[in-house]
Amino acid sequence: MFDLSEKVSYIRGLAEGMGLDMETNEGKLLSHIIDVLSDMAQAIIELDAAQAEIEEYLETIDEDLADMENAVFEKDDEDDDENTYYIEVECPHCHETVFFDEDIFDDDNDIVCPNCSETIYSEDEYNKESDPD
Ligand SMILES: [Zn+2]
Repeated sequence: MFDLSEKVSYIRGLAEGMGLDMETNEGKLLSHIIDVLSDMAQAIIELDAAQAEIEEYLETIDEDLADMENAVFEKDDEDDDENTYYIEVECPHCHETVFFDEDIFDDDNDIVCPNCSETIYSEDEYNKESDPD
């Protein structure tokens, strides 16, 4: 991008080297064109620098956002729904076969049949069964 201002300087040097009479209409026009070129080159260089700064800033925001996403939605593949076991149970009350997420047995809550709303396993019974004493 600095190449651009070098090129404009080169053109200015060429014009001066040609010994153009800057007091003629053509000379004035050429001189103004070179001035405008120079201003444009300067503006583009400043825009380019500003843009690079914005890009860098966006990149850091993007990285921060990715970190935040990872922290908020902690991805744990082992906890995916696909890997959840469903336990098949026949309800002793309505004899309907119902399915429970295995995680429900980790809780201390009674297991209730979704069909008849009767308790299938209460926590007390569960303890009695798993502990022969
Ligand atoms: Zn039932």
